[in-house]
Amino acid sequence: MISVEEALERILDEIRALNVTQIALQEALGLVLAEDVVAQEDMPPFANSAMDGFALLSRDSQPRDGHPARLRVTGGVAAGYVADHQVEEGTAMRIMTGAPVPPGADTVIEVELTHSDGPDSEWVEIMKAVTPGNNIRPAGEDMRRGQTVLLRGTEIGPWEIGVLATVGWAKVPVTRRARVAVLSTGDEIVDVDQLLQPGKIRNSNGYLLEAAIRQAGAEPHRLGIAQDTIESLREKFSEAIKYDLIITSGGVSVGDFDLVKNIMTEQGEINFWRINMRPGKPVAFGHIGGVPLLGLPGNPVSAAVTFELFGRPVIRKMLGHTRLLRPQIDVVVEDGVRERVMRRHYVRAHVTWQNGRFLARTTGNQGSHITTSLLNANALVIVHEGGAQIHPGDLAKAIMLDWPEV
Ligand code: AMP
Ligand code: MG
Repeated sequence: MISVEEALERILDEIRALNVTQIALQEALGLVLAEDVVAQEDMPPFANSAMDGFALLSRDSQPRDGHPARLRVTGGVAAGYVADHQVEEGTAMRIMTGAPVPPGADTVIEVELTHSDGPDSEWVEIMKAVTPGNNIRPAGEDMRRGQTVLLRGTEIGPWEIGVLATVGWAKVPVTRRARVAVLSTGDEIVDVDQLLQPGKIRNSNGYLLEAAIRQAGAEPHRLGIAQDTIESLREKFSEAIKYDLIITSGGVSVGDFDLVKNIMTEQGEINFWRINMRPGKPVAFGHIGGVPLLGLPGNPVSAAVTFELFGRPVIRKMLGHTRLLRPQIDVVVEDGVRERVMRRHYVRAHVTWQNGRFLARTTGNQGSHITTSLLNANALVIVHEGGAQIHPGDLAKAIMLDWPEV
């Protein structure tokens, strides 16, 4: 039995980032940029107005003999259009936010600082003297042509997508999205829409893992349920090896019908089996047909927790991420952990920020079949090997499952 740390290291050692592909911009959310993005144009591409107002010569804005300057309005320019004439001395042009500053004008005054006769007024009074460049957004103020605006390795979020659209990247080079096969095993497992016959339970793991895989940024493919026979597993694995990663649940323990390891030795190899942890001791990792295989335990809580600790980092590494692990923080365990186990214990908890510290409250019965103990949990409190005890109010480390990886 190996430690959690050794298991993670041995798994990640075997995982490489997938190849690079071009993807439509709108599909790039959550993926990792595979090239630097260099602006090919100045942005904004032209000097434009930051306000609705009037474009004029700044020296025309000075009051004369104690009266506000009064200028003749020669026309207007809306966003998306270009002025068809110059702004001459003694004149002004109506201008809208985002419209190119017309030639001749060196400043813009916002409409709130002017008086006029309404939208068609042929004159405007300038109520405040303005300096050159006022309310003008110069060309290239956001990005200069040739400037690197995004670095390869960046995770693409909505704001990065906005910048990619700004520079006109309709297709984006990214590390391709991993395709992950999800296989549930067990003669007792039936699909979610089936009536429960005696001895049967529903395939919660398949759906849970599919969702967790999608949340990790990969594309899950649910292969359904394999029976606890070598033949059924062989058939399912012949399909599974078409994917980048295989995640199974169940069938990796020491029971008479736990045959996943048999298939792994028959068709590939086992790198390790069993981790000194709870929940989730029977985890197997290896390869089948060159495809990494993470064999997770059947108990739903174990499958969920071991996916978070091992499956998610694997997927992130395949996606090209460099930050693979959730942050650990110090928490005060309000209710403590009464149960003493010799293995490393990951206790589901809800962590909140209260009175200047993080407070963890465990989610009740921590049995690995208690799926409701996952509900409302946003953290795993770590209890060290050897039967360590956490009394109410003790400090402990917690892995924050809803914080981004560091
Ligand atoms: P196993 O690791 O195959 O011995 O399974 C351990 C426990 O997890 C058993 O009680 C199984 O019935 C249960 N289990 C296995 N697979 C699933 C699944 N896909 N959904 C829900 N429970 C499962
Ligand atoms: Mg089983």
